Amino acid sequence: MLKCFCGKESYIKITYPKVKYLCKEHFIEYFENRVKRSIEKFKMLSKDEKILVPISGGKDSHAAAYILKKLGYDIELFHINLGISNFSEISLEKVKELSNFINAKLHVVNLKEITGKTIEDVKGKMCSICGITKRYLMNKFGYEHGFDTIVTGHNMDDELSFMLNNLLGWNIRYLAKHLPVLPAHDKFLKKVKIFYEIEEKYIKAYADTLNIPYTTVKCKYAKKAITIRHREYLNKLEEEKPGIKYHFLYGYLKNRELFEVEKDFKFRECEICGMTSASKICSFCRVWRR
Ligand code: AMP
Ligand code: ZN
Ligand code: ZN
Repeated sequence: MLKCFCGKESYIKITYPKVKYLCKEHFIEYFENRVKRSIEKFKMLSKDEKILVPISGGKDSHAAAYILKKLGYDIELFHINLGISNFSEISLEKVKELSNFINAKLHVVNLKEITGKTIEDVKGKMCSICGITKRYLMNKFGYEHGFDTIVTGHNMDDELSFMLNNLLGWNIRYLAKHLPVLPAHDKFLKKVKIFYEIEEKYIKAYADTLNIPYTTVKCKYAKKAITIRHREYLNKLEEEKPGIKYHFLYGYLKNRELFEVEKDFKFRECEICGMTSASKICSFCRVWRR
């Protein structure tokens, strides 16, 4: 039987940078230390910042909110009801459960009340529109309610699968942006990914071990996303060659400036909503207000 260093039965195997077997208790400690180290290393957050944590109902954002609360950060929760059948109802339920579980204030907004429509009424690239909508609404809410920072639940696997996708398409502009911290800019709040260096499998284990409420129900429209496939073969590679995902990530950070082609890009204000935008009319207003 494999054992933790403390002598107890092993609960989980850590595969990189060193193979380690840990019991439940030492896994929790290990996980929290890894996140704390990320926060320090990338200067992600300070205790006097007012932090908004947008939560989806899923494990990653729920674990992010849980750990930030536990580490003593000043957080409030934010959820967008997107109106997706067989998904948004259960998400809302879990989000409320989490809010009670960690005793953090929850704000809920409803897409239908804001735009008169739900994501399901959209014709065309639904997932990309959903992404635009979520990013816009979390930023706008945070900006208008005096928050300094937004922390999302994006994990290392999310980041790498998007990075690979942008590499395959040579989307140079987007390749500059896979960072753990995006600084504030005009009406854009600072955005932080506290799980930038943390693999999804460990976040799941953390959430399960601590019985953090979350739903495993996935949005039925996300199935077709190519990034889900990228995630699968990156994980196969990682099994064959432990560390390859980490090298991909840290190599990116070392070489990121290669992609920085728009250093002096001038943002403006959207003519419809007044929020910071790359073009005359922001992508949210282009989708929902035209
Ligand atoms: P996703 O786009 O689903 O991969 O989610 C990325 C991040 O956005 C999550 O980690 C959450 O922090 C946040 N998020 C996703 N869905 C919602 C939602 N319905 N309401 C608020 N935040 C969300
Ligand atoms: Zn132990
Ligand atoms: Zn706008």
